[in-house]
Amino acid sequence: MRRLTSRGLYLEQFKEPAISSPIDSFFDVKTVFLPVSSELCVSANQQLDCGQLISRGIYPDSIDSFASVKGTAAAIGEFKFEKFEGQSFMQLDADKDFVATSFEEIEPRELTDDEIMYAATECGILNTTDKRTLAEILEQYKGGVKNLVIDAVDDEPYVSSRISQLLCRTKYIPHAIKALNRLFGAKNIHIEAYGRNGDVSVRIPQSVGRYAVKASLEVYPVSRMLQSDDDTVYIDIGALLSFYYSAITHKPYTNTVVTVAGDCVKKSRNVEVPIGTSIGDILNFCGLRKKPALIVLGGSMTGYSVDGTDIPVLKSTKAILAFTEEPEFETTTCVGCGRCIDVCPQKLLPYYIYSYYLDNNIEKLYRLSADKCTECGCCSYICPAKIDLRQYVKLSRRTLLKEMWQNEQDSQNNQSALSEK
Ligand code: SF4
Ligand code: SF4
Repeated sequence: MRRLTSRGLYLEQFKEPAISSPIDSFFDVKTVFLPVSSELCVSANQQLDCGQLISRGIYPDSIDSFASVKGTAAAIGEFKFEKFEGQSFMQLDADKDFVATSFEEIEPRELTDDEIMYAATECGILNTTDKRTLAEILEQYKGGVKNLVIDAVDDEPYVSSRISQLLCRTKYIPHAIKALNRLFGAKNIHIEAYGRNGDVSVRIPQSVGRYAVKASLEVYPVSRMLQSDDDTVYIDIGALLSFYYSAITHKPYTNTVVTVAGDCVKKSRNVEVPIGTSIGDILNFCGLRKKPALIVLGGSMTGYSVDGTDIPVLKSTKAILAFTEEPEFETTTCVGCGRCIDVCPQKLLPYYIYSYYLDNNIEKLYRLSADKCTECGCCSYICPAKIDLRQYVKLSRRTLLKEMWQNEQDSQNNQSALSEK
C-alpha cells in the first residue's frame, strides 16, 4: 500500500494491465441511479427510452441528464449516497430485454452541420478537462480558436480511461476531430497524452490519422498544465468521442469509460458502463480478491475514499480503485522545501495556510486567499512530509466562506437597523 502513498514518486506502472487491455463492456445492469435537478422532464413510474432527457442542468456537472437504460423511473429522491448529500437522483429500473449500445457499434461517416450542432449543444457533453459543457465552451470560442488540443492525458497513477479510448477507438478519432473542428475552426490540432510511460508495455502512437500525439512530460498531476486560454482550447477525448457518437446516432452517449484497478481487483481494466451504474456492480463484474479495505473514486491522488459500494458512477468518474490495505500516513513536520508552493496552480501558499488554520488566524487566511483553492490535491501529493495540505486548505476555505457570509449578513442587518432609525 505504500505505493499509493509514496508521494513524489512516479507510479505509472500501476496503469498496467488496464492500459494494455481492450475496453470491456458491462451492460447487464438492473438499476441505475441518475443525478437530477429540480427541473425534471419526466415523472416517477414513467417508461423511459435510453437517451431520453430526464432533467435539465444538474449539479455538480451542470449538465442535462439523460436516461442511460431503457426502463421504468421507479423513484425520484435524495437516496443519501455518500458524498452526494442534498443531491436528488432518479432510480431507473432497466427493462429485462434492454441491451445497451456499445460505442464500437457505430460506423464512421460524414456528418451534416445540423448533426454536428445537435450533438454539441443538445446532448449534455461534459468536457472533464475543465468541467464545462461543450455548449458553454463553444459559446466562448464562437469566433474560432487558433489551437485545438485533444486531452488524452491520464494524470494520475492507475488511471488509464482516457488513453485507453485513444488506443481502442483510434479509427473514430480523426473523423471525430474533423467534425468537432468544423465548430472551432482551429488551424493547429494535436492530441496530448501522458509521456512518462516507461513501465507501460503498450506503445502510444506518434500520430492518429494526420494528428500528432504529443507527450506531456510533466510530473503527476499534470492536468493543471492543460488549461484553455484565448488561443487554445482543450477538449478531453471522452467528450470528443461522446460528441461523435451523439452526432452519428442522433442521441446522447449515455455510457462512460471508467478504469477499475487496485491490488484488490482480480482483473484491472477499463470498462464501458451505463452512467449511473453502482460501483459495487462494476467491482463485482471485474472480480475482487477479497473485501476491499479501501475504495477510492477518481485517481489515487485527487480522488476520495468511500465506505459504501452503492454510489453510482457519473460522467466525471474516471476510476474506481479497490485496495486490500488502508494506506499508512506517517506525517512528519514540514521540512521547508517549498514544493507545495511550486505546484499550486492557484499560486497559493499551502503550508502557510495550513499553519494559520491551526492557529485559527482568520485575518492571515484572508490575506493568503485560501478561498481560491480548487482542491486539486497537488500540494498534498508533492509534500515529502506527507502533510494532507489540501484537507487543511479546504477547511480554511470553508472557514473563510462562512466568515464572509456572516460579515455579509451582519452588514445587511446593520443597514436595515440604520434605515429603520
Ligand atoms: S489543493 Fe488548493 S492549495 Fe493545494 S495545490 Fe491545489 S489549489 Fe493549491
Ligand atoms: S508543507 Fe510539505 S511541501 Fe510544503 S514546504 Fe513543508 S514539507 Fe515542503
